[in-house]
Amino acid sequence: MLVVKKFGGSSVADKERIFNVARRCAEEYQMGNDVIVVLSAMGDTTDELLEKAAEINPYPSKRELDMLLTTGEQVSVSLMAMALQFLQVPAISLNAFQVQMHTTSRNGNARFKRIDTDRIRHELENRKVVIVTGFQGVNKYDDYTTLGRGGSDTTAVALAAAMHADKCEIYTDVDGVYTADPRVVPNARKIEEITYDEMLELATSGAKVLHNRSVEMAKKYGVELVVRSSLNTEEGTVVKEVVKVEKMLITGVAADKNTARVSVIGIEDKPGTAFKIFNLLARHNINVDIILQSVGREGTKDISFTVSQDDLKETLEVLEARKEALTIQEITHNEKVAKISIVGAGMLSNPGVAATMFEALCNSNININMISTSEIRITVLIDEKDADKALIAVHDGFGLED
Ligand code: ASP
Ligand code: MG
Repeated sequence: MLVVKKFGGSSVADKERIFNVARRCAEEYQMGNDVIVVLSAMGDTTDELLEKAAEINPYPSKRELDMLLTTGEQVSVSLMAMALQFLQVPAISLNAFQVQMHTTSRNGNARFKRIDTDRIRHELENRKVVIVTGFQGVNKYDDYTTLGRGGSDTTAVALAAAMHADKCEIYTDVDGVYTADPRVVPNARKIEEITYDEMLELATSGAKVLHNRSVEMAKKYGVELVVRSSLNTEEGTVVKEVVKVEKMLITGVAADKNTARVSVIGIEDKPGTAFKIFNLLARHNINVDIILQSVGREGTKDISFTVSQDDLKETLEVLEARKEALTIQEITHNEKVAKISIVGAGMLSNPGVAATMFEALCNSNININMISTSEIRITVLIDEKDADKALIAVHDGFGLED
């Protein structure tokens, strides 16, 4: 059996944890299985590298930033290989260049295109545990790229798909996927099984357990994922296409504070204005989320939308630069907002789900600024200061607790 095991930064944060992971991998290997290990950088390494870069240049080029960030994962994989070797288990570490994990060229947000499997196969045939750097790839210029924060999950799924692995386990510092973040909602419950679609909506709604692109890829290639803790042997959460029907209306609740509202006010109320604004943002690769259009004064209209806080500065600059051409009279923004989302395939066939959510918020005296929905998700935008309270209220409102 071929097993891919991915461990996040906190699972390899220090010597003890590295050996804890090494022992788990050794056990898997000693059962006779082929083992591929994907690692993130140790602890907060990636954040620290970003800070170092900012000390030197507040606007570093994305190529050099990736050159720097990819070193983090090289440290953890080489140390892990040494730890396994110390335990008398043959192991080899490989980076994205050595494996030949090809991505698009966009530094900082690259996507996998093709993964060579020859080198890995060769090492597995020699009965070695193969330890691969997460989060990185190489582009057509032979330059390093990174996949976006949290991207090591995607590396693991991509390898599992390319190698036709029998199992893909994502180890983290929590026991699995919860109905809400247990640090905020103490009575949140571990979910046994969740569909790709639900997991995808939760991941894009702020649940930080899995990188959303990893779920997208797992769905596309039918890679069943197990999310579990590196610190115990609990079963974890299985992410797959079809799950046994649970009676719950809603599968989970998530909060996303990394969001900002932008409003463009007083634009001409005629065909094409919305197109021009959002086309401009799309050309700058700015992802727009909730959109709300309302009637303004004297035949004008206002459009509000949310973007990730990381994109706020660029959004404002881009709009400001084209303000006149876009007939915008005024641009306002607010960073102190948060999105609260409920997700669940159960809402497809049950009316009243939105009402239950709004009632829970109303009972806690929380005002809703904007609303958006998909087939299996409802998201509201609220004041950031209310986010934790809202998460608890909505979670309780649907009876998700233990
Ligand atoms: N080390 C990278 C990050 O901190 C990738 C990952 O952890 O998955 O974002
Ligand atoms: Mg992660």
